[in-house]
Amino acid sequence: MNIALIAHDKKKNDMVDFVKAHEDVLMAHTLVATGTTGQRVAESTKLHVRTFKSGPLGGDQEIGARIAQGKVDMVFFFRDPLTPQPHEPDVSALFRLSDVYGIPMASNRATAELLIAAMKKQSSGE
Ligand code: PGA
Repeated sequence: MNIALIAHDKKKNDMVDFVKAHEDVLMAHTLVATGTTGQRVAESTKLHVRTFKSGPLGGDQEIGARIAQGKVDMVFFFRDPLTPQPHEPDVSALFRLSDVYGIPMASNRATAELLIAAMKKQSSGE
């Protein structure tokens, strides 16, 4: 699967922690990310991550375009609900496109853990 990783600044540690915890599962997939999130994940794991621009500079839109092109199968977007984001319209657009195309999208770690559990179950043939 093609999986997109995005985390707002206050959620980046959480994203790195999440990816490290599930490196074995994620290693079987193709990862793309917004600039800083991808950099942080690549620094902390052995995973290869293709990075796009930083979110506020258009990275969310680049990932949105890939969703429209059918090139993204799942999105982990750890959103910070307590901090105003200058690129809020881009964030909303990404959520909207995920819904338009029916892409599973986790906006917080609890949901992301459930998606990973489902992926593990599926790959073990249960
Ligand atoms: P970043 O972008 O990974 O480049 O920080 C994420 C975002 O804020 O949308």
